[in-house]
Amino acid sequence: MLASQITVPAELIDQFGRRVDYIRLSITDRCDFRCVYCMAEDMTFLPRDEVLSLEECARLVRVFVSLGVSKVRITGGEPLVRKNALWLFEEIGALTGLRELVVTTNGSQLGHMAQDLKNAGVKRINISLDSLDPTRFRKITRVGDLDKVFRGIAAAKAAGFEHIKLNTVLMRGINDDETLPLLEFAIREGLDIAYIEEMPLGEVDHARGSTYVSNDETLRLLKQHHTLISSAETTGGPAKYWRIPGTQTRVGFISPHSHNFCESCNRVRISCKGELFLCLGQDHKVDLMPIMRAYPEDDIPLIEAIMDAMQIKPKGHDFDLQRATPAVVRFMSHTGG
Ligand code: SAM
Repeated sequence: MLASQITVPAELIDQFGRRVDYIRLSITDRCDFRCVYCMAEDMTFLPRDEVLSLEECARLVRVFVSLGVSKVRITGGEPLVRKNALWLFEEIGALTGLRELVVTTNGSQLGHMAQDLKNAGVKRINISLDSLDPTRFRKITRVGDLDKVFRGIAAAKAAGFEHIKLNTVLMRGINDDETLPLLEFAIREGLDIAYIEEMPLGEVDHARGSTYVSNDETLRLLKQHHTLISSAETTGGPAKYWRIPGTQTRVGFISPHSHNFCESCNRVRISCKGELFLCLGQDHKVDLMPIMRAYPEDDIPLIEAIMDAMQIKPKGHDFDLQRATPAVVRFMSHTGG
């Protein structure tokens, strides 16, 4: 039976009255980079049959859209290294009821994929970039080629994407001296930039408490060099934006520690295993894969599970950088950033 054959609520509302209209779907836990804050050096990746097929991903998104979700972010791992990922973007891009299809990527595959993504209906692209120095870039990503990312950014611009946003995680003593150069790169290239506070997700090689840079500190530093004007605009995500007069650039701050954004949280995440995570910083989840596989032709059990899950969405995350081991053992690459 299809969702259209039962009475489906127009929207998903959680126990605290927050409307969930945004999903982030990780389509792979694999990545061609190994960023030091995101992954351990030796990662074990999931066997293929434990990962949602692209058809299952498409089905899940279709069902969420029927429940009032209007924004979908495809992420990973690195979503663009998944074989035939473009097919999924085309399927989702064609859904009626969806307002925005967006993607988060490390940029390595954009050189050859940006135009196809644009044609598939992708509205915006976020590209992670933590350094402008090739040697340091390789150190942070452990394997990445900065030139390839620059070519990816150029291809995204040439394909006509607007508001391309850089995502930057600053780490004290590692890349915090590039806070300003990264902003100036964004201004020169006509890009937006968001600074993300490092989150304690999964155990990595450094003590996160020692590398943490607060976004308040980043803002203070940027204000010494540029006029930043607070803006009420939102892209439907957690970032708080500032404008720099005379430039196209919006500067975003994603500050889970210094200014948590849980009160207005409108999103849930789905891992590449089909786990519906109700909060990035908590373990509350529902496994959707077994339900989907038990009822391949019937969406009703899936819809019921999603609706029930709204009742366990926690009030907020529980990030504490001082803990010896992170409360959430999942890496960001597992849940999807
Ligand atoms: N591979 C893609 C990329 O590089 O953008 C998408 C997945 S990645 C997990 C999504 C975002 O999460 C990236 O911007 C990355 O910098 C960020 N991220 C990963 N681990 C993080 C952590 N522990 N704290 C804060 N941001 C993190």
